[in-house]
Amino acid sequence: MSDIYTPGYLEVICGPMKSGKTGRLILELKRLDHTNLNYIAFKPDIDNRFSKGKLVSRGMSEEIDAKILNSEDPWRGLEDYVLKDIDVFAFDEANFFSNELIKIVRDFQIMGKSVLVSGLDLDFRGEPFGPMPGLLAMADRVVKLPAGCDYEGCGKRANRTQRLIDGKPAHYNSPLILVGDEEYEARCLEHHEVPRS
Ligand SMILES: [Zn+2]
Repeated sequence: MSDIYTPGYLEVICGPMKSGKTGRLILELKRLDHTNLNYIAFKPDIDNRFSKGKLVSRGMSEEIDAKILNSEDPWRGLEDYVLKDIDVFAFDEANFFSNELIKIVRDFQIMGKSVLVSGLDLDFRGEPFGPMPGLLAMADRVVKLPAGCDYEGCGKRANRTQRLIDGKPAHYNSPLILVGDEEYEARCLEHHEVPRS
């Protein structure tokens, strides 16, 4: 927490679905309410699971206003805020942004802005997701949160995200981002299934 006072500090919070990433981000930002640091939160326009314009975490009453950014070209909506008196920029669901986010975060660090990022480190295939590997490499601090495996009767530490379409494991070649009728579960390595044939 205290590190966030260091100009250019970058913290990345990541893990699978249902690991409490957004909740952790909300808590970190709420703590700043008691400091003299100004913050602002953003999320990509691709995420419509919950209310638009807010960071909302399952099972948590706390929420935080968030600005929606174009996932391919996030800079377009950010430039208005850069010159304002904002110390900490937060990005939720950062995996959905293009690699532009890596450049933006690097520029913010050089400008002395602190950055908090939350997102899925791995996609449903178990492969590094979008800009997350670059952001993780640049981070001063990485918080990897586990979930509990949703596979029936398991409950072990889960670090993978299982995509299910009509209740069945999604094929490796299904599109990376669907946001629709599919479901997601947290799974341990043993129960993470990605059919390739
Ligand atoms: Zn399991």
